[in-house]
Amino acid sequence: MISIADNLDKVSKSIKKAETDSARPEGSVSLLPVSKTQSAETLTAAIELGLDCFGENYLNEALAKQNALQECLSEQAYQALVWHFIGPIQSNKTRAIAEHFDWVQSLDRIKIAKRLNEQRPTQRQPLAVCIQVNVDDEATKSGISLTELDALAEQVAELPNLQLRGLMAIPAAKASAEQQAQSFARMQQAFKQLKAQYPSVDTLSMGMSGDMALAIAHGSTMVRVGTALFGARAPKA
Ligand SMILES: *Cc1c(COP(=O)(O)O)cnc(C)c1O
Repeated sequence: MISIADNLDKVSKSIKKAETDSARPEGSVSLLPVSKTQSAETLTAAIELGLDCFGENYLNEALAKQNALQECLSEQAYQALVWHFIGPIQSNKTRAIAEHFDWVQSLDRIKIAKRLNEQRPTQRQPLAVCIQVNVDDEATKSGISLTELDALAEQVAELPNLQLRGLMAIPAAKASAEQQAQSFARMQQAFKQLKAQYPSVDTLSMGMSGDMALAIAHGSTMVRVGTALFGARAPKA
């Protein structure tokens, strides 16, 4: 039986330790619980522990859980939740994403950005977006290469219903910590440059269950953690 409370305690301590070890202020790194494949009951348990944001990869699964939570939480508790879309985006899914999420971290095409911008309900805050960077140029991974970043950022920054908040990356697993660190360092540099150009940029989303500390040492401001909080995921059917 896994205990989310125990896991949360461990993850929070690891984040705090990594902040201290890299001489960063306490609280400079936020935790995004990644709840893909987890049940609405698991999310409810996480909410009871004080977690209030969730990263989801699959639209239909996320919408079903949002509906379930809306049924069982008070209006106020439900409204306080912040939803991050972190999976690949198909263009026929943009409307529902624009309507039901607060953040999109997996933006990597101007076509998708324009659709999200058009479809974001105007009575809501602009949709917070991170551009996903494929920092190791892996054929199988989503995201743009760093050389394409300036051009996409410039176009995204002009869309009024989106707010450019930063970058997201999932670096490739490497043979050594030194090699892994190089990918994180490239992201840190790109983030620094982007931040200098756009005042709305404040988020470098990198680091997951297995590489949080190294990501934090390289300036991550948000770690996306699934397994270390909720346990191993069942294979997706
Ligand atoms: C699943 C996922 C995570 C969480 O991964 P863990 O290794 O379980 O912590 C983080 N980011 C993205 C984009 C994911 O798809």
